[in-house]
Amino acid sequence: MIVMKFGGSSVESAAAIERVASIVKSRQDRQPAVVVSAMGKTTNRLLAIAEKACASDRAEAARLLEELAAYTITEARPVCRAEDWAGLSDFIDSHFQELSAFLDELAGLGEFPPQYVDLVSSYGERLSSKIVACAFRYFGMPAVHVDAREVIVTDRRHTQAAPLYARTYLKLEERVRPIAARGEIPVLGGFIGSTQDGFTTTLGRGGSDFSAAIVGAGIGAEEIQIWTDVDGMLTCDPRILPGGHRVKVISFGEAAELAYFGAKVLHPATVVPAIEKNIPVLILNSRNPANPGTRIVAETVPCSNPVKSIACKRNITIVNVQSLRMLMAHGFLKRIFDVFDRFQTSVDMVTTSEVSVSLTIDNTAYLDEITAELSKIAEVSTGNSQSLICLVGDNIRDTPGLGARAFGALKDVNISMIAQGASKLNLSLLVADTDLGTAVAALHSEFFSTLDDKVFDA
Ligand code: ASP
Ligand code: MG
Repeated sequence: MIVMKFGGSSVESAAAIERVASIVKSRQDRQPAVVVSAMGKTTNRLLAIAEKACASDRAEAARLLEELAAYTITEARPVCRAEDWAGLSDFIDSHFQELSAFLDELAGLGEFPPQYVDLVSSYGERLSSKIVACAFRYFGMPAVHVDAREVIVTDRRHTQAAPLYARTYLKLEERVRPIAARGEIPVLGGFIGSTQDGFTTTLGRGGSDFSAAIVGAGIGAEEIQIWTDVDGMLTCDPRILPGGHRVKVISFGEAAELAYFGAKVLHPATVVPAIEKNIPVLILNSRNPANPGTRIVAETVPCSNPVKSIACKRNITIVNVQSLRMLMAHGFLKRIFDVFDRFQTSVDMVTTSEVSVSLTIDNTAYLDEITAELSKIAEVSTGNSQSLICLVGDNIRDTPGLGARAFGALKDVNISMIAQGASKLNLSLLVADTDLGTAVAALHSEFFSTLDDKVFDA
């Protein structure tokens, strides 16, 4: 049994859905369970429409909803059997009618509370999963639509709900596993779930990968395949530096680190249920299914290259805090971190000396408040337009001379902060945004001019 998850761009049109069907068909003997995202940009569109309604632009919201309905029907019609169309078009129509009723409620409310955010955004996956299940039948596969809200049980934290694992696994075992076991294909929407008392929730934006991992863990899959539109993980971010090499196999720890530092390929939370059950996760390309992609495995992969990939995050702000009062004092760091905590701002990277602390943040919504608050206890300076570069590899800490190689490569670049995490698998550097391209190119040629061919695709 395997789980195959297809993201929004993989199901954005009738043609894309046809590609998905042929990929699933070619792996039908492995008893797949399929998890899909909303079609294309549907989630964003639903949220924008609801916001319009809240901002009392009910007419514009209605117009945009019509457009979304028309798009959904246009793409669904060609991949639905004639005898299924009446049922499917009723399903689509009634869902858009429900949405329209919610828009009225939101227009009355004038705000968009989190329960409504979940309710409205859940329609993307509810529709796409139903449409894809119909399409599979059209392409000659026995598919069964399962409303994911009936099996993914979560807590009540709307927009960021966490699964109640024991209950969820039980339901997946009872409801989904038997379908796959008898050779039919269960099709579920990702991203959505519901509380024990039946309120619709979502697992957070991009949450379909997470759903795939939960489903995989629940049905005891031998593998979880995340189908995207790239050939897996690369040695560098292609938006910063083209020409990177595909990483054939990477550890869970490394993949999570890369995801966190902006490699858009995988949601970091995906890793958790899969790690616990030791299920490998594959990143594959639905536009290039023959490419073997990247395999994410539980254990460290022996590799003669100490660095597996270079991740980056732009638009980082550095906050420097300096005070002589820190000298020999205790509790000072706590006071500094309390300020960030109070303003709900998460800190990415930290370095300290006896009298100073430097931190980076990427959410600057409360920067002024934070600066004002910190200024009461220390001297504060901030700098924006910084980029975080992160060298990721399980063996980084144990490789002598790695720092010398990294800093040698960057001898002409000003580095404003350096940290080697306790996770021992990353070395992070902060440089100005304007130096990012040069810095990544220099590091890439330093660490990837020779490649271990067991791990990299040359
Ligand atoms: N449709 C949801 C989103 O756009 C979940 C996902 O695609 O993973 O965030
Ligand atoms: Mg996604």
